[in-house]
Amino acid sequence: MNPIIRFRQGVPATATWRTACCAVLSVATLAWPSVSLSQPVGLPNMGAASAAELSPRLERQLGDAIMMQGRRDPTYIHDLDLTQYLNEMGQKLVRHASGQAPDISLFGVRDPSINAFAMPGGYIGIHSGLFTSVESESELAGVTAHEIGHVAQRHIARGLTQQAQNSSIMMASMAAALLAALAGSVDLAQGVAVFGQAAAIDRQLGFSRDAEREADRAGFDMLRKAGYDPAGMAQMFQRLMNSSRLNEGMGGGAYASTHPLSIQRMSDIQNRMSQMTPSSHVSSDDFWYLRAKLRVLQALDAQSRRLVMQQLQQEGQSLSGTRQHAAWFGLAVEALRRKQADEAEGWLSKLAEARQDTSYAAGLRIELAQLRGQNEQAVALARAAVQRWPQRQALQLALAEALYATQHFQELERLVAAQDPGLLEQEPRFRQLQALAQDAQGNLSASRRTMAEFYIMTGAYPAAVSQLHQARAVTDDFYVQSQIDARIRQVQELMDSEKRLREQFG
Ligand SMILES: [Zn+2]
Repeated sequence: MNPIIRFRQGVPATATWRTACCAVLSVATLAWPSVSLSQPVGLPNMGAASAAELSPRLERQLGDAIMMQGRRDPTYIHDLDLTQYLNEMGQKLVRHASGQAPDISLFGVRDPSINAFAMPGGYIGIHSGLFTSVESESELAGVTAHEIGHVAQRHIARGLTQQAQNSSIMMASMAAALLAALAGSVDLAQGVAVFGQAAAIDRQLGFSRDAEREADRAGFDMLRKAGYDPAGMAQMFQRLMNSSRLNEGMGGGAYASTHPLSIQRMSDIQNRMSQMTPSSHVSSDDFWYLRAKLRVLQALDAQSRRLVMQQLQQEGQSLSGTRQHAAWFGLAVEALRRKQADEAEGWLSKLAEARQDTSYAAGLRIELAQLRGQNEQAVALARAAVQRWPQRQALQLALAEALYATQHFQELERLVAAQDPGLLEQEPRFRQLQALAQDAQGNLSASRRTMAEFYIMTGAYPAAVSQLHQARAVTDDFYVQSQIDARIRQVQELMDSEKRLREQFG
């Protein structure tokens, strides 16, 4: 596991096949905070479990534990529009996986380097830098399909690293990842960047060549069958090679010497493509809008924010159609970020005049009303938007926030109750708002129980147990008390099983 070849902040990441395609979260450094992040880190002592293949259940447990920490990571992008888009793309691809379709879950990572990575349990991270550097949806789908290929072929569990003869290295970093996740869940204030601080040590831990080719093959197949342009994969590879040459100096010597494999992989893909009739796939509007939004979101310092604004302004003038609209949308996002209400409204008006009524623009209108302190207006806009685009998860959350701000507590509770359980698990904020609404209505026991569920989702088990005890203390309903007791036992079992997992690998 692991290959995330990542570079320290401020240094442009060098795109390589491995960095780009097959990184698995490397959190080896995190378990050992005393060690400088720039230095390779000692690997934990592996027990007997290291040699065995990971069972799907254990793999899932590891992945879940890492993600609980990961969702609190500053680089995790909490944007339901993005998460929903990535997961719909993933589902479209995975339907065409050969054999049993694996469970996958995609998320965005705020990081300008061109990268994506698969983690234990089917979690796949997509860097904002990857999304913003591709020129078509098929390119993005190409990399995503490759990562799904690693998941579908169970490469992580099978330990197919470059050091296949010593797969305990992979297991070690995985165990370290788990330990880190667990340590982080105990101390919320630690603020460890799970996705952002992986060190160069992992450069050595790429998947094996065979695993890469297997993921390419599986990914290419899914990409084609799902209706994307298979050329997207080749274009993406080409882009990575170019970007790598730029970063590593002229001539590509360094790149070629450290990654000779990529040329082979490129020609494999070209061979496969030459046997196919050309296909065309038009990138969706969603793709262009989210790409514009991510360009804004990943620009953190003043200089890059100015640059993105200039580029978007230029595109807003020189381009036409969806790409022009997406640029205006990006400018509205940036204006709202700077709390410039009138400016944001200007861009949104241009979109409205061009009859570009999208759920994305509707979401920004809700934000705009809130920025102006027009909370009832925000609720009205959010209600209308949810009615028009009921499938948009981001709008459901926007409505929940607006209802809370205006003290429409009962409607908020009904809204949360109507959400898909999978969404509630992925976005704990719903439960948090529900608990606040229950508390505001004086329903203390229910509020504590709901808050406990929020803590469980974020891996903060001791806090969850504490909430459950409080919930038990404020009710004299015997039936409710026994339900709470049962839940406390379940949480304690969760804590115990993670402790056992830690001991198994530690
Ligand atoms: Zn790969």
